[in-house]
Amino acid sequence: MNRLLRIFKEDENIKNRIYYITIAVAIASLIISLIADAFQGFGNAVLMSVSIGIVLLIALFLLSMHFHIENIGANLLIYFFNVVLFPELFLYSGGVTCGVLLAFLVSLLIIGILLDGKSRIIAYLVSVASMEYTIYYSYTHPDYVKLLEYKDSVVDYSVTLLVVSLTIIYIVGLMLRAYNDERIKSKELTARLQELSVKDELSGLYNRRELFRRLNSIYHSESGSQIPASRQGCYIAMFDIDNFKNLNDTYGHQFGDKVLSTIAHVLMDSANESNGEIAARYGGEEFVAVIRSDSINEAITRVDQIRKDIESIRWNNVPDLVVTVSGGLSSCETFEDVDLVIQDADEHLYKAKHEGKNQIQA
Ligand code: GH3
Ligand code: MG
Ligand code: MG
Repeated sequence: MNRLLRIFKEDENIKNRIYYITIAVAIASLIISLIADAFQGFGNAVLMSVSIGIVLLIALFLLSMHFHIENIGANLLIYFFNVVLFPELFLYSGGVTCGVLLAFLVSLLIIGILLDGKSRIIAYLVSVASMEYTIYYSYTHPDYVKLLEYKDSVVDYSVTLLVVSLTIIYIVGLMLRAYNDERIKSKELTARLQELSVKDELSGLYNRRELFRRLNSIYHSESGSQIPASRQGCYIAMFDIDNFKNLNDTYGHQFGDKVLSTIAHVLMDSANESNGEIAARYGGEEFVAVIRSDSINEAITRVDQIRKDIESIRWNNVPDLVVTVSGGLSSCETFEDVDLVIQDADEHLYKAKHEGKNQIQA
């Protein structure tokens, strides 16, 4: 019962849904045609065979659902429709004067949806051969076919056209919706994976790999010229939290993590990404910011402002605590290589630590 609900509530995969919906529609159509045939005075043989068809379809529906044998079921269903049920219905209901030929078309569409590879090709060839033979048979055995009156034929075609077109529109709509849902899901997943691959989880900043990718693109953006335009006005600031080990030891690692991510946010807010600036987590409690500025003095002012912003943070549970960072600044224009500019920023940072921390050296 749960499975039945899932199928009609769109949780099941699209192939299985169409499989079960096809059987359900077929059962409904056969019941309608059974009633119509009974009223039109068709013989017991027709009524009997339609009834057997209904029972077989219900059995197939229930067995497939219970044993999860939709693949086998789809093959059985298609051969049952195209080799047994439709040819028989075609011959008994009036040959080319009845609308069964239109139903043949839906059946061919269903083959394309439910079957794959070789079994699809074989089912298609068998089905078309069976249909063509049935039409030919109706011509060579005119006594066997009870042709409909013109009026009845028109009614039959109209009703069948309506049922068949509704079925096609429903199935195609179902597939398009499933396709769109999948597309949206896979887009979201790709965006999420992309984010995970460039960002550091704890801080939300870019990770070290992405930092170097960006730095390399800054250094190699204009091969040929001496200094690529993107290197001009580009500064690298390296920050390291002061006495962080002590902070961890005093307030616990969890609080340390909170301090890390709060400081990361200050860096994130200060980076103007549209201008090519980024902030990244370089290591444990070390960060690197790529800064764009017209002069080294302006860059120093910006980096010192970041330092001051961090110093002025008030920590909820520990009102007296002041967390500071030290920083080293270096210019991309001065160094020919990514590693050299990073190394220079690191040396300035070391100097800032050495000279008393909570300061920027350039
Ligand atoms: P200094 O002022 O010279 O930089 O001293 P420091 O204590 O900050 O330097 P040190 O390199 O000795 O310690 C860095 C500490 O950062 C050690 C490590 O446990 C801590 N740390 C690194 N990554 C993380 C992290 O993700 N979370 C937390 N809570 N601590 C971290
Ligand atoms: Mg430190
Ligand atoms: Mg450190």
